[in-house]
Amino acid sequence: MRDRTYAADVEPGESVTVAGWAHEIRDLGGIAFLILRDGSGRIQVKFAKEDLDASLVETGTNVTRESVVSVVGEAEAEDRAPTGVEIVPEEVEVLASAEPELPLDPSGKVDAELPTRLDNRSLDLRREEAKAVFEIRAEALRAIREFFREVGATEITTPKIVATGTEGGTELFPITYFGQEAFMNQSPQLFKQLMVASGLERVCEIGPIFRAEEHNTPRHLNEATSIDFESAFITHHEAMDVCEGTLRAAYDAVATNCGAELETLGFEAEGFALPDEGFPRLTYEEAIERANATGELTEQLVWGDDLTTDAEHALGDAIDGHYFVTDWPSDIKPFYIQDYDDDPEVSKGFDLMHPRMELVSGGQREHRYEPLVEGFEAQGLDPEAFDYYTRMFRYGMPPHAGWAYGAERLVTTMVGLANIREAVLFPRDRQRLSP
Ligand code: ATP
Ligand code: MG
Repeated sequence: MRDRTYAADVEPGESVTVAGWAHEIRDLGGIAFLILRDGSGRIQVKFAKEDLDASLVETGTNVTRESVVSVVGEAEAEDRAPTGVEIVPEEVEVLASAEPELPLDPSGKVDAELPTRLDNRSLDLRREEAKAVFEIRAEALRAIREFFREVGATEITTPKIVATGTEGGTELFPITYFGQEAFMNQSPQLFKQLMVASGLERVCEIGPIFRAEEHNTPRHLNEATSIDFESAFITHHEAMDVCEGTLRAAYDAVATNCGAELETLGFEAEGFALPDEGFPRLTYEEAIERANATGELTEQLVWGDDLTTDAEHALGDAIDGHYFVTDWPSDIKPFYIQDYDDDPEVSKGFDLMHPRMELVSGGQREHRYEPLVEGFEAQGLDPEAFDYYTRMFRYGMPPHAGWAYGAERLVTTMVGLANIREAVLFPRDRQRLSP
C-alpha cells in the first residue's frame, strides 16, 4: 500500500494510513477503541462517537476481530494509549472481514493445542510468541550465512532427488523418477565432499533434508533444514572451531538484534550470548565414563554403545552447556568418517551436544580411495552404486572435514521450545502431510 505507515512508526502530529488486523475492539459507550495490529506492533484508533460521522463509527467498531482494516487519520499523543499515541480516524475501510468464530485465538488469551496451531499456522503466527520464533530463526540463519562468508565458504545448493542414500537405507523416502526408483536426499554429505575436490574447496549449504524416521519424537522431523559445512585442508578440530563459531555468531546476533522477540519468549537479551570459554571437548571414552559416574543411568554404558537419551541428559545436566564429544567408536559412525590409523576402532567423528539433544555431527573425512571403499563394504553398501562419488577420490581428493546441524534443533534449543515442530512453519511428521 502506498504511503502506509507501520503501527510502530506512527508519530504524534502526523497524518497517517495504517493497515492491519483488528486485534481488539473495546466499546465503552460514548467512546470506542479499535486496536489495530500489524507486523510491527499495535496502534490504538479512537472513536469518540459524538465527534465522528456515524457510518465511520459503525464500520470501525462493528468489525469482527481479526478482520483486515485500513485507517486514515490524524495521530495524536495520548498517554493512556498502549504506545503513547492514538489515531483519530477520518476513513476506515474493511479490506477483508474475518468470520466471528476463529479456530484459535490470535490474541493468545486462550491457549491452543499444537495440532490446532499447526493446522491454522497463519492465525497462529499472528501471536507474538509464535512469530518471535521465526524472527529469531531468520536472524540466526542470517548470522550463520554471514559467518560462513567471513570464513570463506561458498554457499552451494545440492540435489534433493538422488539415486542412492547415504545415512543408511531405512530412513529413505522413495519416489518415482520417470519410472525409475529414486529417493529424497537425507543429507548433502556426498555432494559437499565432492566440492572440496573442486576449485571451491570450502562450501556451505542451508537446505532441506528428508528422513523417513520411524519414531515420533519431540526432536525429529521428516523434513528438516540442514546447515552444512565442508572444507578442504582442515582437521576435525578445525571443523569444530568453525562449528562453534557459527553457533556463537547466531547467539550473538539474536542477542543483539532480537531483544523484543527474546523478551516475548521470556529471555533477557543481556546474557543471552554464549559464555566466552570454548565448548569442552570430551572424548567418547571420557563422555561415557562421566555419564556412568552420574549415577543417573538406568543402564551403565560400555565402550561401543551409542550415547542413550538418558546418558545425553545426565551429561547435559553435569556439564550444563554445549560440549563436543570426539573420537567415537568407528562402528557407530558412517563410512565416510576417517579412523585413526594407529587405532582403527576409533574414528575422528564428533558430535556437538546441547544439554537437551544432539545438535551437530561431523568429522574428519576419509579422503583416501582404498580405505573409503573398504568402509563402504563394511557398512553393507555397494561401492558400485556410489561410483560417481568414489571415482572423484582417484583424481586428487584433499584431506577434509566438515559437519551438519539441524536448523530446527538450533532454534528449539536456543529458545527452549518443548517440541521441534514449533520451529517449523509446516512440519512433516508421521501424522502430518498437510498443510
Ligand atoms: P539423531 O541421532 O538425533 O537422530 P542423527 O545422528 O541421525 O540424529 P545426523 O545424521 O548426524 O543425525 O544429522 C546431522 C544433524 O542434523 C543432527 O545432529 C541434527 O541436528 C539434524 N537432524 C538429523 N536428523 C534430523 C531429524 N530427523 N529432524 C531434525 N533434525 C535432524
Ligand atoms: Mg548424528
